Amino acid sequence: MRLLIMGPPGAGKGTQAAILAERLGIPHISTGDLFRANLANNTALGQEAKKFMDAGEYVPDSVTNDMVRDRLESDDATSGFLMDGYPRTLAQVAELDEMLADSSIDRVLVLSADTDAVVARLLHRASEQQRSDDSEEIIRHRMNVYSEQTAPLIELYAGRGILVEVSGLGAVNEVTEDISNALGL
Ligand code: AMP
Repeated sequence: MRLLIMGPPGAGKGTQAAILAERLGIPHISTGDLFRANLANNTALGQEAKKFMDAGEYVPDSVTNDMVRDRLESDDATSGFLMDGYPRTLAQVAELDEMLADSSIDRVLVLSADTDAVVARLLHRASEQQRSDDSEEIIRHRMNVYSEQTAPLIELYAGRGILVEVSGLGAVNEVTEDISNALGL
């Protein structure tokens, strides 16, 4: 099973992706987590990514694509994965298509949520996790970047007939249930 999970910042992608990947026995590959791990280990890639993450911008493709390519080449990803936070641009879609070559994505799950609800959620997370990209101004900017650069991917994947959309608002277990039903799990 090769799955992508998309949605605006704060829709609950990371939480649901972790639950789903565990249930399906496939690796949860989160580009945000990979960047944060690089940052925690103080790697050159982490230092480079930090500038963009702190500003609420996307990390350049020259950095992001190679990181994803490396991760997909790991043994545990050969029979399936749940990709969280990639692709985020039309250019990244083309890159992923090329990386997967003969195999393809089975489903793209969109967790939808309205802006005010996710801003409130993210401000709450900011106070709990002290993420440096979670101030209100940066959050609003990240929402705009999402609308401009990532939301168009929804239509693209819908056109391929593999899109599944579920509301990300509600209790975690209810959203998980809705996702399972929508994916026929
Ligand atoms: P996330 O945890 O998925 O919200 O990602 C946190 C931040 O990492 C984003 O705001 C971006 O700065 C960066 N990031 C994650 N995934 C990507 C991607 N596919 N392309 C560019 N930047 C990304």
